[in-house]
Amino acid sequence: MQTRILAIDENSLNLSKQIILHGGAVAFPTETVYGLGANAFDTNAVENVFKIKGRPNDNPLIVHVHKNYDISTLVSYVPEYSKKLAKAYLPGPLTMVYKSCGKVSGAVSCGLDTLAIRIPSHEGAQKFLKHVNLPIAAPSANISKHVSPVTAEHVFSDLNGRIEVILDGGKCEGGIESTVLDCTGDIPVILRSGLITREMIAKIAGECGEYVLKDGEKARSPGMKYKHYSPDCKTMLFNFDERDKAVEEYSKFNNDGISAYILCDNKTAKLINVEKILNLGETECEIASNLYFKLREGEKKAQLIIAIAPENQDGVMVGVMNRLTKACK
Ligand code: AMP
Ligand code: MG
Repeated sequence: MQTRILAIDENSLNLSKQIILHGGAVAFPTETVYGLGANAFDTNAVENVFKIKGRPNDNPLIVHVHKNYDISTLVSYVPEYSKKLAKAYLPGPLTMVYKSCGKVSGAVSCGLDTLAIRIPSHEGAQKFLKHVNLPIAAPSANISKHVSPVTAEHVFSDLNGRIEVILDGGKCEGGIESTVLDCTGDIPVILRSGLITREMIAKIAGECGEYVLKDGEKARSPGMKYKHYSPDCKTMLFNFDERDKAVEEYSKFNNDGISAYILCDNKTAKLINVEKILNLGETECEIASNLYFKLREGEKKAQLIIAIAPENQDGVMVGVMNRLTKACK
């Protein structure tokens, strides 16, 4: 199969719709990362997405819909706090998990009785979702466990020959996956951190919990238990306070002929002043936006990525640290 990267226009949207209606999968941009979408009503199409990615078949998918889609047709109950959160933050990088009413294929949620729904704000994603006018089950458009893709070229390098079309919406601005929020209880509970932070949710919903997977427990969000986001090269991770040790390792490896790069934010980069650097930028939004982009740049250039965690680890940095820790395991 030949894989083509196409600009988003009438022709590519018509082609994408035909592929989706015939049970295929299309890669499309969102404001977080690129998704690999299939018709959520079609079990074969959804199962095929798991196969294309090599995704474990107990890790459920998020259903994406356009902003005028009536989600009450897919779920049995939407709590008041979700309606308020939707008003404040949707369309945007917030996925909410509800009790499913069983309309979409059981393959989407891997047999769970819940359904994760997201309304992306990216203009290209909205165009694609409106054009097909179907709920689209979509994980990130990478080979399972690799770093999520934030450009059409990243998708191509992972999925070339496995899908027909990648809709090109440029570099994803958000840069890390959506916040996943369990909305099946009395208060919302974060299952995966992202750009919509716990503070932002609590401000609207009054309260917000955070789910932490304990040893030996069955994961409430199955994706939590998997290694994710790993670059195709060796990695090490140091705290901000251990930055001198990170520089020692950097020098040692480079002196031994192993090309090591340091991945860190701009503040740390100024302090350590080394030559081979993958600079994530200054603000928390820049750091999130550049994380996967720089990990993918790093795996091409370096034999070893030595990451130094940012000093501040609140807000959006909670999501960044979650990905960075998994990338460097
Ligand atoms: P990805 O598509 O790779 O961004 O991963 C989707 C994330 O959403 C994974 O961490 C899943 O475990 C989580 N997820 C999807 N559907 C559900 C659900 N019904 N209940 C809990 N977590 C879910
Ligand atoms: Mg993923």
